[in-house]
Amino acid sequence: MTQPRDEKIIKGTIVKVAGPLIVAEGMPDIQMFDVVRVGRDQLIGEVIELRDDKASIQVYEETAGLGPGDPVYSTGEPLSVELGPGLIGGIYDGIQRPLTNIYKAAGDRITRGVEVLKLDPKKEWNFKAVARSGEKVTGGDVLGTVQETEAVMQKIMVPPRIEGTVEWIFDGTATIKDVIAKIKTKDGRIEEIRMSRSWPVRRGRPYAEKFAPNEPMVTGQRVIDTLFPIAQGGIAAIPGPFGSGKTVVQHQLAKWADADIIVYVGCGERGNEMTDVLMEFPELKDPRTGLSLMERTVLIANTSDMPVAAREASIYTGITIAEYFRDMGYKVAIMADSTSRWAEALREMSGRLEEMPGEEGYPAYLASRLAEFYERAGFVRCIGTDEGKPRYGTVSAIGAVSPPGGDISEPVSQGTLRIVKVFWSLSAQLAYRRHFPAIDWLQSYSLYSDRLYEYYDRQVNEDWSRNVKRTMFILQEEAELDEIVQLVGFDAIAFKDRMTLECAQSIRDDYLHQSAFDDIDTYSSLPKQYQMLDMILAWYYKGLDALKAGVPFQKLAAMKVRERIARMKYVPENEIAVKFPKIRTELDTEMRELTDEALEAED
Ligand code: ADP
Repeated sequence: MTQPRDEKIIKGTIVKVAGPLIVAEGMPDIQMFDVVRVGRDQLIGEVIELRDDKASIQVYEETAGLGPGDPVYSTGEPLSVELGPGLIGGIYDGIQRPLTNIYKAAGDRITRGVEVLKLDPKKEWNFKAVARSGEKVTGGDVLGTVQETEAVMQKIMVPPRIEGTVEWIFDGTATIKDVIAKIKTKDGRIEEIRMSRSWPVRRGRPYAEKFAPNEPMVTGQRVIDTLFPIAQGGIAAIPGPFGSGKTVVQHQLAKWADADIIVYVGCGERGNEMTDVLMEFPELKDPRTGLSLMERTVLIANTSDMPVAAREASIYTGITIAEYFRDMGYKVAIMADSTSRWAEALREMSGRLEEMPGEEGYPAYLASRLAEFYERAGFVRCIGTDEGKPRYGTVSAIGAVSPPGGDISEPVSQGTLRIVKVFWSLSAQLAYRRHFPAIDWLQSYSLYSDRLYEYYDRQVNEDWSRNVKRTMFILQEEAELDEIVQLVGFDAIAFKDRMTLECAQSIRDDYLHQSAFDDIDTYSSLPKQYQMLDMILAWYYKGLDALKAGVPFQKLAAMKVRERIARMKYVPENEIAVKFPKIRTELDTEMRELTDEALEAED
């Protein structure tokens, strides 16, 4: 390794090594969260505690071989990510080292201290100027654009806190290291702007104003959109025991959620599981464009064989990248899988720092760290303007939690539940019965639903929220009736209640159950969702009337049209306008015939 580049470097000495944590002294000017290079191999580390003249440093690489007396160099900078063209499609580790480049530079295992650039400095991009010379600009204003992939146009913005007049602006092909604009600030300095810029991961990027989310992030997953919707800019958690379908839900969201950009942070589940993500994600097709999903995705991967400290950093790296795209006015979804592994990294570092442990050994600041992550999500008005117009963007955050044994009373689940507004509770029993997505309708909730139902009522159908309330009511009734049936048997309950049980079953099997692997069923638009549910409820309410008119329950349960209702999910979107009204007519006709029959029999 070469010597550090900067002469102002502070050099200290290691006094103690404890796994990924080292303690160094002799660095009086060092600051919290400064990045340091440790030992002769110059491993990357970050200062996480300063006490007296000693600095505790978490090292993002394997520390074997380090010992007291080895040198430590400060870079004088906080842990940062590099933001600019080249991010999209990237696969990084927790501190934004591109895994593909590392592979090229050092073989299939990351060599310690390997120096890799975060974004490709040689790649040329076509920068199209938007701002003009002489124009007054402030932080966030768009200077120009770069078509980064077919799916994503990156906006190159004036960095926050810079204000002045464009002295000069470039238009054409350039690398991220080339100056593409010069801005003269009020005090007469010239700021040279490049396409990339670094940003400290632990500091949220500034925005002008934050709002309460008010539009749904449509996912095409019926149980989510209908019963437990998430808002654009919302925050959700999916806890789930192993095998309950967490990964499939996350993939479905990545593929189908109404988001321009996906940031996926894989926090060291078992090594091979992360390999699955690395292998699978690039294979996933973006259903809307037919292109690879990587055309709008950034992947951050930490396998369990990477040091714990890098895992701790990875969610900050992820959310900073997400915020950066939000600054451009995009809808970004960030998924962290799993925050439990992240919290374990926090616990391990806290233990080594010999801090006072809180519940189950997690540090007392676990909840506030979780909050710091989720709070960076949201629906904002971005700083700056886009050709004079304001810009709005969202970061929606979805965190998977993997509580040991599926018991959500543990601290990470509880800490998460206090913060998030949507909770999709995956149930092992449902998964065992192969009811997928195994989101438990009695345990889950969405605190956005009231606000979003207003949107659905306006945009989809005015009966949306009424139908959803009826559906929830029927499902809750089913749970109560089930208990009674267990005591007295199915035959002993009233026909009206049997209708309720039939309807609940239809809601579960024909509506909530949705196969991720069926080409058509994998996604349902909101109009399709509305009409499917409305049909199931129509059978129920018309059926209750027919029951009163004397139609036997068995006949209602065995109606031919119910088979058609069960298959509605397989009707392609472009055929619903023709096929659904036909099913409706069949339902009405069959119901009328049964009722007429019953009335005639009475006469
Ligand atoms: P986890 O990540 O919680 O361990 P997975 O997401 O890998 O679980 O899901 C386990 C299995 O469950 C999958 O391989 C798949 O067969 C099935 N599965 C999960 N979700 C669905 C779904 N929406 N549709 C069909 N099958 C599913």
